[in-house]
Amino acid sequence: MEPKSLGNEKPKLRVGLIGTGFMGKTHSFGFAAAERVFDLPFELELHTVADRTEELAGAAARTLGFKNATGDWRRLVGDPDIDLVDITAPNAFHREMALAAIAAGKHVYCEKPLAPRAAEAAEMANAAVAAGVRTQVGFNYLCNPMMALARDLIVTGELGEIRSYRGIHAEDYMGDAESPFTFRLDKVGGGALADLGSHALATAEFLLGPIERVLGDEVTVINSRPDGKDGRTAVEVDDIGRAFLRFASGATGSIEASWVATGRKMQHNFEVYGSRGALAFSQERFNELQFYTTAEAGRVRGFRRIQAGPDHPPYGLFCVAPGHQLGFNDLKAIEVALFLEAIAGIRAEPFSFRSGQRIQELVEAIHTSATGGRWVSTA
Ligand code: NAD
Repeated sequence: MEPKSLGNEKPKLRVGLIGTGFMGKTHSFGFAAAERVFDLPFELELHTVADRTEELAGAAARTLGFKNATGDWRRLVGDPDIDLVDITAPNAFHREMALAAIAAGKHVYCEKPLAPRAAEAAEMANAAVAAGVRTQVGFNYLCNPMMALARDLIVTGELGEIRSYRGIHAEDYMGDAESPFTFRLDKVGGGALADLGSHALATAEFLLGPIERVLGDEVTVINSRPDGKDGRTAVEVDDIGRAFLRFASGATGSIEASWVATGRKMQHNFEVYGSRGALAFSQERFNELQFYTTAEAGRVRGFRRIQAGPDHPPYGLFCVAPGHQLGFNDLKAIEVALFLEAIAGIRAEPFSFRSGQRIQELVEAIHTSATGGRWVSTA
């Protein structure tokens, strides 16, 4: 679908949002802030929001700033006025909603994990390419200016030859055995590795390039969860997933995903070790990057803290002063701006459905490896 042109003004791009929970709100912040921070190629209109019921959608439309509301996502997808469909509904709906939106000629922005199975993610990516629409997956952590700096330091050789990588995404929101069964525990496509490990894997490949093979290990710590009635539902997915990694570059590494890491709230961390330097990063302090270089004299050598500022674009568009810090919702604003530039043809899609498919393939390879107890190729 072509965004509507209004004479000399920027073309208008009308957004339809499906799902108004945690991510629905974050995406709404992203759209609102992106217009104020970036010189976007479009004038955005928050057109319609959909949720499970008219009531939920209506209440969200008022607070999130959308003009219309519907309790039926198919009406949103079928609305010829809408140019971009944004899916923040539970994982099991992603495929059906995205394929319907693509068939209607919309650009599609969808949260991770792209689909419960890699084959479904491939179907979605192929459909988007065939229809000529643009797509994006919500890998927001990659939008952090300090993540771009880390990759730049690696790619330009500041760290020398990269030898090893350690990545982790650990939280504790499923640590209580009495926390209820949710879509994140769905037998197909659920689990900590798909939910959180997808971010850890996306960061690993963003920084070090393609992963060539994996050796996985997974464990279910809490075997049943309250079903929301009086009983309990058996849990068949991983609470903790780990993998050894071999990168195509020759570097070795590992990732860990856990949602039962008591005390951890957002440990999306990585460490990179090269022959002449190293990096360490924590999402809990995501406006900082720890940098170590052997270029410094031995007696003053040590990890030093680089603080985000206007030298790390697009930080300066949010705030002229270094050290004042971006927030989680700002990463979504950057993600929105990148997607709109891709729709306008100014840049290639940074995190297309094809990249979502790739991450899902890695997740499945780790599942296969964990079951079979052997290395699995992901080249
Ligand atoms: P949530 O439960 O907070 O929100 C889901 C929303 O979808 C709710 O408003 C729910 O009512 C709605 N919904 C459910 N069924 C629907 C239907 N049939 N039609 C329309 N709406 C429906 O969940 P969440 O935490 O926002 O997660 C949503 C997605 O975002 C998941 O895919 C999750 O993996 C992803 N997510 C991504 C990040 C990230 O950092 N990128 C963080 C959290 C969640």
